[in-house]
Amino acid sequence: MEQEIKVTDIYGGMVFNDKQMKERLPKDVYKTVVTSAKMGEHLHKDVADVVAAAMKEWAIELGATHFTHWFQPMTGLTAEKHDSFLSPTSDGQILMEFSGKELIKGEPDASSFPSGGLRATFEARGYTAWDPSSPAFVKDKTLYIPTAFCSYKGEALDKKTPLLRSMDALSKAAVDLLHVLGKTDVKHVDTTVGSEQEYFLIDKDLYKKRKDLVMCGRTLIGANAPKGQEMEDHYFGVLKPKVSEFMHELDKELWELGIPAKTKHNEVAPAQHELAPVFETANIAVDHNQLTMEIMKKVADKFGYACLLHEKPFAGINGSGKHNNWSISTDTGENLLNPGKNPAENKQFILFLMAVIAAVDDYQELLRLSVATAGNDHRLGANEAPPAIISVFLGDDLAALLNSIEAGEKYSAEGDKKISYAHVLPHITMDNTDRNRTSPFAFTGNKFEFRAPGSSLSVAQPNIALNAAVADELKKMTAKLSSASKENLDQAIDELVKEMLSEHKKIIFNGNGYTDEWVAEAEKRGLLNLKSVPEAVPYLISDKVVNVMESNDILSKEELESRYEIYLDNYNKALHIEALTLLDMVKKEVSEGVISYSNDLSDSAIKKSSLLNGSAATYEKSVLAKLDEAEAGILKGVEKLEADIKNAENVENTLEAAKYYHDTILSDMDALRECVDLAESITPGDYFSYPTYDKLLFSLR
Ligand code: ADP
Ligand code: MG
Repeated sequence: MEQEIKVTDIYGGMVFNDKQMKERLPKDVYKTVVTSAKMGEHLHKDVADVVAAAMKEWAIELGATHFTHWFQPMTGLTAEKHDSFLSPTSDGQILMEFSGKELIKGEPDASSFPSGGLRATFEARGYTAWDPSSPAFVKDKTLYIPTAFCSYKGEALDKKTPLLRSMDALSKAAVDLLHVLGKTDVKHVDTTVGSEQEYFLIDKDLYKKRKDLVMCGRTLIGANAPKGQEMEDHYFGVLKPKVSEFMHELDKELWELGIPAKTKHNEVAPAQHELAPVFETANIAVDHNQLTMEIMKKVADKFGYACLLHEKPFAGINGSGKHNNWSISTDTGENLLNPGKNPAENKQFILFLMAVIAAVDDYQELLRLSVATAGNDHRLGANEAPPAIISVFLGDDLAALLNSIEAGEKYSAEGDKKISYAHVLPHITMDNTDRNRTSPFAFTGNKFEFRAPGSSLSVAQPNIALNAAVADELKKMTAKLSSASKENLDQAIDELVKEMLSEHKKIIFNGNGYTDEWVAEAEKRGLLNLKSVPEAVPYLISDKVVNVMESNDILSKEELESRYEIYLDNYNKALHIEALTLLDMVKKEVSEGVISYSNDLSDSAIKKSSLLNGSAATYEKSVLAKLDEAEAGILKGVEKLEADIKNAENVENTLEAAKYYHDTILSDMDALRECVDLAESITPGDYFSYPTYDKLLFSLR
């Protein structure tokens, strides 16, 4: 019998959290640490020494022998280098040591991490700096210290640094506006984030036989299985017993690390699942999402599964995303996007709502590019995920409220719409936020849900973009309102909201985002429709984006230029690897299967013809002819792709290369795949050394 776990006993057991600090630190030190973490301030070295000693004692009690500065370089993954606490003494003994200096700063060699050219001009050395706002934890007998990673001269080489800077910028901007509104007790505003994570589980042994999944995270070939997701019988379906065990174990490991995993269910596609945590401060939520992805993979492996986090592992069925739920709340405990009982009278809510609407409108390209990756290009714009066009969904009630403000009319709410399902069931109030799943950016009650991020993305990126954009709008709004006298403030607010509405209402769209009509309508409204990485990423170094990032002290022009190079380079590399993997599979495994089947068909046809008359074996001959046609297509496709990859390798400029990969290599790959899938669809699966879609997708026990 598996032992029952008591969640309250294990939750956060491996985290140096508030409870541990309170118990283990002197009172004054504890206070200093808590306030500086909250306010984003530096800690003095003496304080750090005390904290380090307490952390070390605690970690050793949990079996730790090592510590590591844990950071998030531009690879999108996390990085760590382990040092032991061990320090030999002159008499041949050892001490377990860990100083404040070691806690605060590390000096890893930065030269093997992507720097996008920043390193060329500066030293190879990089620094990791302790982030006291995200708690340290013990994992794999090691004390993990969340850190920021920057170059010798202080340029950000990671995703955490700009995220922290963006949270500061948003806090300052929101506090300023709140002070104008008279809320002078607010000192700090927090970005809150809850990121729902989608993933696939497939049998590990089958996974290992698919070179494309192993190398690229997605299948590059594969005819559709006779059954896909059309029956919609997987969504919220009963969990298979072993999948359920996997989820229990995953929850347990996440809870021990203080990650508030809350909801789990089957997703739309076969073998697809989702996990949602309770929201946290953005910085911690990002750290926790990185850990969640890592632990999902680890636990899957233990259960004989492979966990796929790619945005589009299989053609023909849904891909995976990561809904980024985002809001802002004050240190006095108020969610600034909570409409309250009477939103029409809640000017503060309306102002913050307007700031977000304006931010999404003014910075569509920034939001879009913050989620642009080779993997996510397969999702956005296909009829399953939000479209590549960024728009805001508000729901009927809020849209009506804003309309009445713009028209200068008094808003009368219709009142709660009650739905009665059956007499025995309680009356349920209809959710005023609707459930429009086709919008990329939807208001969902007291937060916005950005649905465009891909499943493997670090959520730092979209949150940096959102924070920067909203901070910028708030600053503009404060500038306009701060000159109004107390008596005129209400009127000034009304005027500002009206003015902003007429400027930005084009970004509001409450209809179905998957239709062609919307694409046409969006174009008429002048909204951007950036379909791919090479279309979106160049905006990162546009004057507008550089300006908003620099003026809010989030990223400098040089840092943005380095990121631009890194994103494009990542894209080019991903496609290069995909093209080579596809060629390798086609030339070896696909042709082996197809030729072997052709052989058997020919043998059979010859035998039949010698036994019977010349018109025998019509079935074999007909399949053989079809296979031969597919093979001819495959040969042509291979030759073209091989030649074009050579061309791609010779393009120097990263943007030009990205365009070439997108326009030429991707379409070569699609054309080749079409012939391969055709051949696969007429060849029995056993002829191939790799498992086909039907096995991959319906293999879970
Ligand atoms: P959904 O709207 O997708 O059905 P929920 O209401 O359960 O789901 O919320 C989804 C996610 O949004 C969860 O991770 C939840 O913690 C998060 N969330 C809720 N409130 C906030 C908030 N104020 N800020 C950020 N995230 C939030
Ligand atoms: Mg959701």
